[in-house]
Amino acid sequence: MPDGTPTGQGRPLRTARALRQAGLIVPEAEAGAAAVAARYAISVTRHVAGLIDAADPADPIARQYIPDPAELVTAPGEIEDPTADQPFTPVKGVVHRYPDRALLKPLLACPVYCRFCFRREVVGPDGGVLSEAELEAALAWFEGTPAVREAVLTGGDPFMLSARRLRAILARLGAVPHIETLRVHTRVPVADPGRVDAALVEALRGAGKPVFVAVHANHAREFAGPALDALARLADAGVVLLGQSVLLRGVNDSGGALEDLVRAMLRARVRPYYLHALDPAPGVARFSVPDAEGVALVEGLRGKVPGFAVPVFVRESPGGGGKKPVRA
Ligand SMILES: *Cc1c(COP(=O)(O)O)cnc(C)c1O
Ligand code: SF4
Repeated sequence: MPDGTPTGQGRPLRTARALRQAGLIVPEAEAGAAAVAARYAISVTRHVAGLIDAADPADPIARQYIPDPAELVTAPGEIEDPTADQPFTPVKGVVHRYPDRALLKPLLACPVYCRFCFRREVVGPDGGVLSEAELEAALAWFEGTPAVREAVLTGGDPFMLSARRLRAILARLGAVPHIETLRVHTRVPVADPGRVDAALVEALRGAGKPVFVAVHANHAREFAGPALDALARLADAGVVLLGQSVLLRGVNDSGGALEDLVRAMLRARVRPYYLHALDPAPGVARFSVPDAEGVALVEGLRGKVPGFAVPVFVRESPGGGGKKPVRA
């Protein structure tokens, strides 16, 4: 069902066995997938499973989520913390690299686990939820740091929090006088759209400040069916939607795929923002696209699509220098 028809609710597929039983990997691939699962988290929601065309060995949705034994091989130059957040962590769960904005990472769980994730060494279903005391310390840091004008919730995926918890965090941050805007980075609207329910939307409204939601999606087919409904609920609530993608070999590394992706975003009221160069986390080499090719692909969009639909092609500087535009 590659058209995004809902496949019903149900628990995400989290093991090699579950992937095999769902027909998403062949029996011969189960042992290799299990070996990957022993090291990195796996999760494919029922919604995403319904987007995958299992008959196509090059399916661009499957490629993002289905484990591959190549992940257990670390290529030269791949490092465990490619964004080097650690030196910029004033209190647990906070990253403050730019003066006016700081990240809050309340948890490290995601609806799906992307095989190319730059935080793959730390994300997972049972890791990284801040304790009440840690969250309190992080929120107090935001309250006591007047230079910070934007709080950016990331993780993991903040939309994996209960609406009650998300509402409490956003209300607290929204009440801080020097915090002018809030931002949430998430894959939930396209990976588990049913989570974007009335309670979640209310939690965003409850912030009382402008809320920007940056949606991570890499292929046009991720914008279909219930995902479009979820994005419409957010946009209708006054949330400004931004699109974030990673340039990935075999997923969006052609002019046509990239154009289709940004056009799918526009139809969903999502403004393309960043196209990230792949960060060199361990075992992600099969997704790598040379910089010069990426620059040419993004330049190829200019003139073809509205100017505001051309994302900025960026890369994290190794050693914690932050995001920088990639140049040929
Ligand atoms: C990416 C990032 C941000 C947000 O950067 P923008 O360019 O404003 O999207 C903020 N803090 C850190 C540490 C980041 O890595
Ligand atoms: S949703 Fe984001 S943080 Fe989570 S696995 Fe995918 S890329 Fe990593």
